[in-house]
Amino acid sequence: MPRALVLGLDCAPPALVFDRFAGVMPCLSRLRREGAFGRLRSTEPPITMPAWASMASGRDPGELGLYGFRNRGEGYALTISTARDVKFKRVWDYVGEAGKKVAALYVPPSYPPPPVRGVSLGCFLTPDDAERFAFPPRFQRTLLERFGPHRPDVPGFRADDLPRIEAELFASTRHRFEVLRHVLAEEAPDLTFFVEMGPDRLHHAFFHHFDVDHPRFVPGNPFEDVGARYYAFLDAEIEATLALVPEDTHVLVVSDHGAKPMLGGVAVNELLVREGYLHLKEAPSGPAALVPAMIDWSRTRAWAEGGYYARVFLNVKGREPEGIVATDEVEPLVAELTRLFESLPSPEGAPMKTSARRPRDRYRKTRGHPPDLMVYFDDLNRRALGKVGLGAIHLPSDDRGPDACNHDWDGIFIAKGPGFDGVGELRGPHLLDVFPTLLEVMGVSCPGGLAGRSLLRGAGAAMTMPDP
Ligand SMILES: [Zn+2]
Repeated sequence: MPRALVLGLDCAPPALVFDRFAGVMPCLSRLRREGAFGRLRSTEPPITMPAWASMASGRDPGELGLYGFRNRGEGYALTISTARDVKFKRVWDYVGEAGKKVAALYVPPSYPPPPVRGVSLGCFLTPDDAERFAFPPRFQRTLLERFGPHRPDVPGFRADDLPRIEAELFASTRHRFEVLRHVLAEEAPDLTFFVEMGPDRLHHAFFHHFDVDHPRFVPGNPFEDVGARYYAFLDAEIEATLALVPEDTHVLVVSDHGAKPMLGGVAVNELLVREGYLHLKEAPSGPAALVPAMIDWSRTRAWAEGGYYARVFLNVKGREPEGIVATDEVEPLVAELTRLFESLPSPEGAPMKTSARRPRDRYRKTRGHPPDLMVYFDDLNRRALGKVGLGAIHLPSDDRGPDACNHDWDGIFIAKGPGFDGVGELRGPHLLDVFPTLLEVMGVSCPGGLAGRSLLRGAGAAMTMPDP
């Protein structure tokens, strides 16, 4: 009976898992030596929610219509997307329909917890007061009795109280691995897909404390060894987990994107105001999130949603509720904005490696409300800040609280099991390859028309996605 276990380590980068911390991670280092591994190219954008949704469905963010945590509905406003917004079946649906038992644990987005042929658990977007965080109800009752309340995340990780964050980080990771081991032992699923948010939270809170290459790193700081301690702890949790699965199980250890030091942020809406593309009804008295009611739409041609990248939207006549940009003005305006963003210098006046891209050039399809332009500032070294009233174009930090890390293009792929033994380093595996790989492992036929290829036996890795 084919079995597969996916261990998703959110935000785990090759530089830490394959190099810097390889010595304190004997279990994952052994899996790499004995099986297959590679740098796993993430989606555009390399952001948690679209990336895991793409990995689990085999569809890119354009096909899914998920361009970030928040997405546009009918008007100008963006709202947080949920599991209901994933309109394609995910790998556990196909495997369940083939008569096998599945477990989908904490995989974003999975609130509400999806009904599956087995068990499922809500992801980190599960509201604190959610009545239902697990499927089916008897599974939720068992978890509450044995492990207490649902702990899908590290609460308040963008804050200054680092000792509390550290304690919550280790405790909540242990909680989730205990739940995972309970599921493996008691439910014995054929396919288990588990995501651990801890590495992402470690990076956002502590990257500058443990990464010697971070510009804000201070040698001898009290959190200098927290990275090594956490990754060693994670490796031990994985080792204890693998002891519970049958020897011929295919084990995949993957991440949704990588991590790199955050050098600062670009206030993208401030730039659009300064250059006359965005007009506010009144100047804000201090930093404020940009909401549609603040904008004078009768004069606004473009505005942006911030985050790891900027999503720039044009105010197009007939498409937006109060659009003013005529259809034939769209292309020249996009070209003008591309030049504006790509020529913006760094705070020191040096050129930045900024790239502005059209969704139609990057995705196979675009559903929902794609931006008109996707802007990655300085090759993801700098974040896009969406707030207005910041008083500058360049800022040294995030506009939402302390943060040390930005997402990076490459995550990790490690695989062990009969179809991977002795394969070694893979060239160019892509996140979209994970879905067809899992279906092949499980002996379930794969839907046609996918961008990804199965990586089993070291095959595939024929990238059809453009390089960033
Ligand atoms: Zn992530």
